[in-house]
Amino acid sequence: MAEPDRRLVQTAVIGNAASGLGIVLPQEAEELRRLRRRHPAYTYWCGTQLGGCGGKLSDRLYVDKVCHFAHAPHTSCHREANGANGADHLFIKQDLALWARRSGVGARAVLRDQGSGPGDAVDFRVRDSRQRVRFQFRRLTHPEWRSASEELERDAASLDWVFGPGSAHPETMEEMYGRTGHVLRFRFETQGVARSIRIRAEEGWSSTDWVPLDACAMTPEGLRVPGVERRPRASRRPVVETAPEPSAVAPGPRSTAGPARRSGPRTSPLVRKVQRLVDELNALAASADADVRTKAERLDREAAGWIERYGRLTGPDYWSGKATKVAAQGDGLARRLEKLARSLG
Ligand SMILES: [Zn+2]
Repeated sequence: MAEPDRRLVQTAVIGNAASGLGIVLPQEAEELRRLRRRHPAYTYWCGTQLGGCGGKLSDRLYVDKVCHFAHAPHTSCHREANGANGADHLFIKQDLALWARRSGVGARAVLRDQGSGPGDAVDFRVRDSRQRVRFQFRRLTHPEWRSASEELERDAASLDWVFGPGSAHPETMEEMYGRTGHVLRFRFETQGVARSIRIRAEEGWSSTDWVPLDACAMTPEGLRVPGVERRPRASRRPVVETAPEPSAVAPGPRSTAGPARRSGPRTSPLVRKVQRLVDELNALAASADADVRTKAERLDREAAGWIERYGRLTGPDYWSGKATKVAAQGDGLARRLEKLARSLG
């Protein structure tokens, strides 16, 4: 007799090996019977998007032990995430697509393999506003998180990290508390044969309630989870950056959008980007001719005005719908700053 499949596979995809439609097999015989009656045509696969072998799976019904999926005899499979949470990245991808559609946002969710499989992380990208939300499943070391953050922020107007169970290093959490005052977390709840995401914000000793995606909103400042005590935005009451500035800002004309009105690390990535570009441009323009210096000064003033306007629209008491438009102006401004800096460099 063939060796039974001892992996106790609880998740699969439906339809074909490449499918993105995940399923959690009910453990109780009665529920599995009901599933079979309701969906007699379903076929189950050890999906490639689950990091699986692509082989076909059968649903094994037991009354005396838990039901599970099983490979054909003698299948060699190296999939590791066989448990009930093994398809969570597919469930969230679906949830995000649905959420974006419902909220009328043009966006895409993409799976990210960081070396241990397709379920390491899921990125949500809003097309027009170039906003990003990273749902992190795999545990990252602090330096890994840092470099991933820098990479994601490079061309993003806002970036939010939402961490799965155990995926954030304590140092990373420390830094997140410092930046935003809270850490966003996700977990999943099993609902029938699917699982759906719940999100909350943890703020040191207290947390908000776990809520579904539908309760959250994508705002120009990023993902907003209800109940989060927003810290007063730096752009309203500018604070001087505590960390020493890198020497890139070295001697140059005094910047209007520069250190004096510099805001803290909680500022939106777009504002930080504009500030950085202004600093870089000023450093470059210092040794350029008068014509270029005039252009640089004009952009500097424009940036200062934009930062203030954007700050007003995205104050502590939520955001104004106009902010999306103003964010786009900030993008345009950043492009002009980059262009002038390139012509000098
Ligand atoms: Zn397999």
